[in-house]
Amino acid sequence: MDCIFCKIAKGEIPSSKIYEDDNYLAFLDINPVARGHILVIPKVHTADIFDTPDSTLSGLTAAAKKVAKAVVCATAAEGVNFSINNGAASGQAVFHIHVHLIPRKAADNLPPWPHGSYAQGEAARIAESIREKLE
Ligand code: AMP
Ligand code: ZN
Repeated sequence: MDCIFCKIAKGEIPSSKIYEDDNYLAFLDINPVARGHILVIPKVHTADIFDTPDSTLSGLTAAAKKVAKAVVCATAAEGVNFSINNGAASGQAVFHIHVHLIPRKAADNLPPWPHGSYAQGEAARIAESIREKLE
């Protein structure tokens, strides 16, 4: 398997390492959305949220939270986007699960997500169709 984040985890290609423990690694994103943009990964390869065990997601979240506090402090940020792109349609380009930590300031001018609205009855129909699929 030719996975760039596995290679970073193994030290086979360089990264600007921020944090490492036995199971998780955090490093600077090479093309930052904002200065200090960090990626946090589990060292064991899984592609996305759906094939990652809950225990790994839990540890990943805890590691990312620790690093998020540090990057907010170090960059004097006012907030941080803490997110996972899951699937190509959501913007996932590297299929080794990773949390993005993007330090934010109110005046950083990054575009907000566009918000829509529901037609009469549509929200109820969509909510029901999702509830039916819960396992
Ligand atoms: P995503 O679109 O959620 O899959 O995010 C992948 C991220 O990985 C992008 O923000 C890239 O800039 C970043 N990236 C790709 N290659 C590297 C690398 N060698 N070192 C650090 N970040 C990388
Ligand atoms: Zn990998």
